[in-house]
Amino acid sequence: MENFFIGVKEWLIGFFGLGDFLKLMTTHDYGQFLTWKGITALIGPIIPFLLLFEIIRMLLYRRFKLVDYRISFFSLVLNSLVGRVISIGMVSICIGLFAKFAPFSLEITWYGLIYGYVVWEFGHFIYHYLGHKIRLFWCLHSTHHAPETMNLSVNFAHFFLEAPYADLIRTSVCILLGVSPALLFLIMFIDGVWGSFIHIGENISKDGRFGFLNKIILTPSHHRVHHAKNPLYMDTNFCNLLPIWDHVFKTYQEEDKSIKIEYGITRVMKKNSFLDAYFGEFVVLAQDVWNAPGLKNKFLYIVMPPGWSHTKAHKTAKVVRSEYLQAQQSA
Ligand SMILES: [Zn+2]
Ligand SMILES: [Zn+2]
Repeated sequence: MENFFIGVKEWLIGFFGLGDFLKLMTTHDYGQFLTWKGITALIGPIIPFLLLFEIIRMLLYRRFKLVDYRISFFSLVLNSLVGRVISIGMVSICIGLFAKFAPFSLEITWYGLIYGYVVWEFGHFIYHYLGHKIRLFWCLHSTHHAPETMNLSVNFAHFFLEAPYADLIRTSVCILLGVSPALLFLIMFIDGVWGSFIHIGENISKDGRFGFLNKIILTPSHHRVHHAKNPLYMDTNFCNLLPIWDHVFKTYQEEDKSIKIEYGITRVMKKNSFLDAYFGEFVVLAQDVWNAPGLKNKFLYIVMPPGWSHTKAHKTAKVVRSEYLQAQQSA
């Protein structure tokens, strides 16, 4: 029993990212909080505590609904068991494999950070774009899009194999294009904090655009658009902090405040079912492959975008969005 409580305590310290913070506190050398390690120890717990703050606020306002958090928390438990370990392994493997092919290696400097971030966003764009455009990868990514409300817990809604797949692409791109491992870890840290922050719910920041910043960086408003299933918003805003590649590849979309965002995926889901959010897309893909005539069609279902059909009655995001835009134009 005692072991159980120690286990719970350690999990909580891990969840809130308090390990380094507590270690520094016990040394009583508070000057260390001004070092890099100290700063990360202070920033790390921000998102988990914001999430706690969000839940407490909702409880106070009696708006807290457990179902809004269910898919995310079940995913969190499963991921913290397996996903994290595989993902860290994947980063080390990619660095080991590709570092020798890098034409140069930029360390942590101001220009290195800018260059590295642009490269990182490129890797992120590739991983994220493929996650929406290749049906098999959508099976991995759709768990993150399944929640039908937006709040910080959505950060935890991920299929456990998604992080290793994302890191395989992002790490390889960065290392091959000359980002040093130290610089890469710095960028991963910034990206992790910002990538979590953009999931804040409307109860913390109603507008989510942060004024003029909305023109320069990717804000919670942009990411809400990304999580929306409204036709105008489908498959837009794939970036994380700098929306450069969304501008380059024409997937940038600002929020239209006259349209009410509908969060979630277009497939009819079993209401708030964790199992459906986690495995549902695999099940429907398997059904489509099984029912498709001929080997070629079976294969195409796996690699074509979600919504592709062998009958040519495609319902892909591209089709739905352009039909919507056409209707808007002729209206
Ligand atoms: Zn996505
Ligand atoms: Zn997201």
